[in-house]
Amino acid sequence: MVASEAFGIVKTGGLADVVSALPPALADHDVEARLLLPAYRGATDNLRVDHAAAIPLGSPLGDGPARLLPFVHKTLDLAGWLLDCPPLYDRAGGPYLDEAGHDHPDNHRRFGLLCRVAALVAMVEGLTGFAVDVVHAHDWQAGLVGAYLESFGGVRPPVLFTAHNLHFSGSFDPGVLPELGLPSAMQQVDGLEFWGATSFLKGGLYYADKLSTVSPTYATEIQTESGGEGLYGLLAGRGDDLHGLLNGIDATVWDPSHDGELAATYGAGPQPSDGKRACKADLQERVGLTIDASVPLVGMVGRLSWQKGVDLLLEALPSLLEHGAQLVVLGSGDGPLELALRTAAAAHPGRVAFVQGYNEGLSHRLIAGSDLLAVPSRFEPCGLTQLYAQRYGTLPVARRTGGLADTVVDADAEPRHGNGFTFGPPNAAALAEALGRGLACWADKPRWQACTAEAMALDRSWTQAVRPYVALYRALAATTRSSP
Ligand code: ADP
Repeated sequence: MVASEAFGIVKTGGLADVVSALPPALADHDVEARLLLPAYRGATDNLRVDHAAAIPLGSPLGDGPARLLPFVHKTLDLAGWLLDCPPLYDRAGGPYLDEAGHDHPDNHRRFGLLCRVAALVAMVEGLTGFAVDVVHAHDWQAGLVGAYLESFGGVRPPVLFTAHNLHFSGSFDPGVLPELGLPSAMQQVDGLEFWGATSFLKGGLYYADKLSTVSPTYATEIQTESGGEGLYGLLAGRGDDLHGLLNGIDATVWDPSHDGELAATYGAGPQPSDGKRACKADLQERVGLTIDASVPLVGMVGRLSWQKGVDLLLEALPSLLEHGAQLVVLGSGDGPLELALRTAAAAHPGRVAFVQGYNEGLSHRLIAGSDLLAVPSRFEPCGLTQLYAQRYGTLPVARRTGGLADTVVDADAEPRHGNGFTFGPPNAAALAEALGRGLACWADKPRWQACTAEAMALDRSWTQAVRPYVALYRALAATTRSSP
C-alpha cells in the first residue's frame, strides 16, 4: 500500500485515516498489507524501526542514498517500510508544503522516488522478502507506480489506484520525465499528459489495472464533465474498471464509548446523554463559547478551502445567530477564510469561536460536543467528519454531493430513517434552510432522540467497508500482468 500519509505516522486529511484503517481490517480477511511511506522528519516518532535491517537502494534518482527502513507501529496494527532519503524528506514543513505554506519545489522528485521504489518493491521480491500480489496506490503522490511498472516491463503485479480527491492532480512541467527516469514517450494523451503538463494523477488513472474512488456517488460524478476535473473522458472510458467504495471509520479511534480524548465517554442511544452534555460544556469552555446547555451548538472541522464551503457557512452565519445557535470551527487553510472566521469570532464573542490549526484531540471534542456538524462541501469524494458525527450522536447538515449524498439521510425527507439534514444547491440560503431544519429538530426532543439514535446505530466500520476491497484484490491477484 503506497501513500503519502497514514494516521499515526503523518496525517493532513482523510487519506491518512483510510490508509491506516485498511491494513488491520484486511488482516481479518487474510490479506497482509504493508505500507510504504516517505520517511518525513518526525515520521518515526510512533514507530519501532529496525535500522539494522535497512535495505540500501543506492541513489535511484540521484538525490543521494536512499534506503527502506522496516517498521512496525508502536500502538497501531501497521507494518511496512519508510523510504528514507534525507535530502528529499528530512526537512521542515508538512508532507506537501513548506513552513511558509508553499509546495515543496521538488515534490515531483519526492513522490516520483516513492513511486519508483514502490514499483521496485512490487517487482523484486528479493528486495524485501515480501511477495507482492497487488499494489494499492493512493492519490497522485502514488500515481506513477503503474507507469514505472510499465516502463520496467516484464511480469508484474497488478495495480489498484484509488483516487481520494481528483481535485489534486499532481501536475508538473513535462521536463521532469527524464529526471524521474521515465520515457518521454509517456508524455501523450494516452499516458501522463494533462493540459500540457505531466500529471501523476492521470498516470494513476491511466496505468493502473483497476480504479477506485471513495463513494458510489463520487464515482458517478467524476465521469461527468462538471465533476470530472478534466479527466471525465478517461474515467468514463474506464467506467467498467472504476469502483466507488465507501470509506468506513476506524472504530478503535472514533467511538464515543471509549474515546480517550473526550471529557466524558458515552454510549449509543438517545442523546443528549450525561456524557454528551459534559462534552458540550467542555467544548464550549475550551473554545471560549458561553457555557450553556440550552443553546444549540453547530460545529465544523476540516480544511478551510473552497471545496469545503466554509464561505457558505460564513454567509449563513447571521441566520444561525438569529436562531440563537453557537458556532465553532476548527481548521486551517486559505488565508482569507481564516481571516473571515477570526473576524466573525471577534464580532460575536461567546457565540462564535474559531480555532486555527490542526488539532486531532480537539477534533474529537468538537465532534462529540456539537449538536449539529456542518459539512457544506461543494464537492466531497467521501467525507469522514459526517460519519464520525453520526457515530457521536451529532447530526450532520451536509450538501447532497459525493459521499455525503451516500451517507446522510435527511430527517425531514425520510422521517423514519433520518440521520442528518441535507441541501442541494451550493449556496448559503440552502445551507441556512437545512441548518434551520436541523435546529428545529434539536428543539423537538423526542424527534431529536429518534434521529440521533438512528445515526448512532449505523454500522460504518471498516469491518463492513473493507469487504469490496478484499473482493477487488482477490480478482486482481488472480490475473497476471506483463508489459512489453
Ligand atoms: P479531506 O480528506 O478532504 O480533508 P475528510 O472529511 O475526508 O476530508 O477527512 C478529513 C480528516 O481530517 C478527518 O479525520 C478530520 O477530522 C481531520 N481534520 C481536518 N482538519 C482538521 C483539523 N484542523 N484538526 C484536526 N483534524 C482535522
